[in-house]
Formats: sequence, C-alpha cells, structure tokens
Amino acid sequence: HAERLDGLGTTIFAEMSALAVATGSVNLGQGFPDQDGPDSLLEGAIAAIRAGANQYPPGRGIPALRQAIVDHQQRFYGLTYDPDTQVLVTTGATEAIAAALLAYVEPGDEVIALEPYYDSYAAGIAFAGGRRIPVTLRAPSYRLDLDELRAAVTPRTKVLLINSPHNPTGTVLTDEELRGICAIALEHDLVVITDEVYEHLVYDGTHRPLASYDGMAERTVSISSAGKTFAVTGWKIGWVTGSPEVVTAVNTAKQFLTYTSGAPFQPAVADALALGNDYYDRLRADLRARRDLLADGLGELGFEVHRPAATYFITTDIRPLGYTDGIDFCRQLPEKAGVVAIPHQVFYDNVEAGKPLVRWAFCKRPEVLQEALTRLQKL
Ligand code: PMP
Ligand code: GLN
Repeated sequence: HAERLDGLGTTIFAEMSALAVATGSVNLGQGFPDQDGPDSLLEGAIAAIRAGANQYPPGRGIPALRQAIVDHQQRFYGLTYDPDTQVLVTTGATEAIAAALLAYVEPGDEVIALEPYYDSYAAGIAFAGGRRIPVTLRAPSYRLDLDELRAAVTPRTKVLLINSPHNPTGTVLTDEELRGICAIALEHDLVVITDEVYEHLVYDGTHRPLASYDGMAERTVSISSAGKTFAVTGWKIGWVTGSPEVVTAVNTAKQFLTYTSGAPFQPAVADALALGNDYYDRLRADLRARRDLLADGLGELGFEVHRPAATYFITTDIRPLGYTDGIDFCRQLPEKAGVVAIPHQVFYDNVEAGKPLVRWAFCKRPEVLQEALTRLQKL
C-alpha cells in the first residue's frame, strides 16, 4: 500500500468497540450515545424517505438545511452567513476536516494541531501530504500554552487545526487562548480549521466560535456536525461555514470525495437545528449529570479524575491505582473488569505525555455508567 497509509492501522475506536462486543464489556470507549436523538428528528428522516428524498441532493446541501445552519449561527453566536455561498453540508465533520485539509495543505506544509488530537486529523494531514506539528495540552489542566504555539510556527506552517471543545480532554479554550490563536494566525497569515462539533456539550463555561473574533472571518474554516448535538452519530451530517472563498475551496475537494451527503437526513437535521432552547438545555443538563455520576464514581475507585468542562469524555490518570501505561491498562480492562475505555496515548506524537491517561465516555444511560462502575470495583 501507499506510504501515506503508514502508521494509520485500524482506528482505535473500531478496535475497542470490536473488543467490547467480543468480551461482552460495557463500552465506554467510542463516543456514541446509547439513546438516539429526539423522536421528531428520527420521524423527520423516515418521513423524508417516504416523501422521496432519496436521490442526490444539491452538492452544497439542501436549501432548508443551509438556511437552518445560518439561522443557528445567528441565534447562538450572532454570526451572519449567506446560505448560498457560505455554507457547505458534508458527510460528517470527518469529511469536512479531510476536505478542508485537502483544500489548504500543499505537500510539505506544516499543520499545527493541539495534542492529544482526534485520530482522523493525523490521517487527513497525511492524505494532504502535510506534516503534523503537535502542541501539547498537558494534564491535569490541559491549558494551551500560547508561547509553545507561537514557537511551533515556522515558515512552512500553513494551517492551525483547532478543536474546542476538545476531544479527548474536554477542555474549552478560554477567551484568552482563543485571542492568542487569532493573533498568531493573523501575524503569520495562517488558515485556521476549527472543529467545534461539541459546541453544545459544554457544562462549565461557554463556547465561543473562533470565527467570531475580529479578522478571523476570512481565514477560518468552521466545522460542526449533527452527530453530537442531536445524538445521531451514525447519520454523518456535518457542515462548514466560512467566507465564500473558504466554502468554495472546501467544496472543490468535497465534491470529489462524496459529491453530496445523506439526502433524507438533511431535512430532519434542518428541523432539529430549530428546536427551542429547552432542547439544548436539556441535552446539556442530562450530560452534565452523567459526567458527574461517572467522574464521582471513578474518583471513589481511586482514579485521579480530570473532570471535563465539555464533550462526552472524562480523562483519568491511572497511576494512583498502580498502573503506568494506558495502553496496557485498556488491553487488560475487558478481561479484568468487563469494561472498555480508550488510552490517550493513541492521540499523541509525544506519547509520554499521554501514557498514564485513559478516556471514558459518559454519553451512556445512568444505569450503564453505574454498571461500569460496579464492574470496575474488581480492579
Ligand atoms: N471531531 C471530533 C473532535 C470528534 O470527536 C468527532 C467524533 N465524532 C468528529 C470530529 C467526527 O464527527 P462526525 O461524526 O460528524 O464525522
Ligand atoms: N468521535 C468519537 C470518539 O472520539 C468516535 C468517532 C469514530 O469512531 N471515528 O470516540
């Protein structure tokens, strides 16, 4: 196979979910909810199939969804976009990230990514022929060191690939951190690709989009997705917003990756984006309670818990329980306790920084989280 596949192997999520099924373990590895999104959304897709939304939709997405995305950006962030030229619907955020990297990265260009990083970033950068340059968010606070970010920039740097709220740490970048990122991007004329799929899953603090900062509109590729906000991770409806030039560039790549995305899901997601604040508030409150249940329980078991401000994930340091290597720990966990979790190490170039850290997904029913905690007493 081609060199660009070297080191990519099988994604950790596929590996760990297969292990969970094979061992009958409680799966707190891959981040997907065990309850589907709102009935109105599910019924919307069924109705759309029955109504004949089964052929290629427009390449940039159906007008109703592009308008709903625009309305959402206005309603939550006061950002104004033109639905015809500034929005692109994609096959999940994953495709948006890959297409954005293909659109902006020349072979040999450097892409600075916050480490630990979501695993598709490494693949997307490799496919574009870029070089990945990590800037590490260090435990236990996972704050961004702006001096380190500044020091990572070279004449070859093309893109800052930012993710906030951040998977796997659950960090929400602060206003100061976001301002620092913007200043560096402006000073060095960099493109910023910002993955904001967890925008509505913030329990402490608030999410502010990078595109809302002065001077950023022209150079920012903003990415989100319906998967997390509406608990339909298998639908793979994502989107890009940005300047007309940005959206055209990303679409030039996207149109030859998949051409279009999920026809019957698009009208359903359009309706869901317009749900009232009560929907978004309840989503957040439910997940906050689950975060606290699992974080408190893991703490009682003796883990050092890094309680996240956002996302689906809690990170723990496993050293207080006498373990030192997260990969070994996660490989033994199904047999020892019947639970699956994800080792942080796979998200790092500087593997030492992630070695004793393990990620646990809490987007599961409370009784499932409780069962996992009961099983973990066997450790
Ligand atoms: N970015 C991050 C940070 C994620 O955690 C995920 C996981 N689902 C994605 C992107 C992918 O989103 P989608 O399923 O919409 O492709
Ligand atoms: N984003 C999910 C996670 O971090 C997994 C998505 C995937 O399986 N690629 O667990």
